[in-house]
Amino acid sequence: MRIVVDFDRCESNGLCVDIAPDIFEIRDDDLLYVLVDEPGEDRRSVIDDAITRCPKQAIRIEYASAG
Ligand code: SF4
Repeated sequence: MRIVVDFDRCESNGLCVDIAPDIFEIRDDDLLYVLVDEPGEDRRSVIDDAITRCPKQAIRIEYASAG
């Protein structure tokens, strides 16, 4: 799976960083960075949590279509 953030929606409020600081980071420029954009399936539930709690609906998961 691949994490995709719509940066036009993201308001850098850091909620996803609180939920998964190993995956999301806000830097000194006040912008969100995705540190691991293709995490393993074992992180699915925590990423779902971030997706659900993002107030801007800015995070989504994409799966590459086979072939
Ligand atoms: S929770 Fe949503 S709006 Fe907030 S920093 Fe993360 S992606 Fe951006």
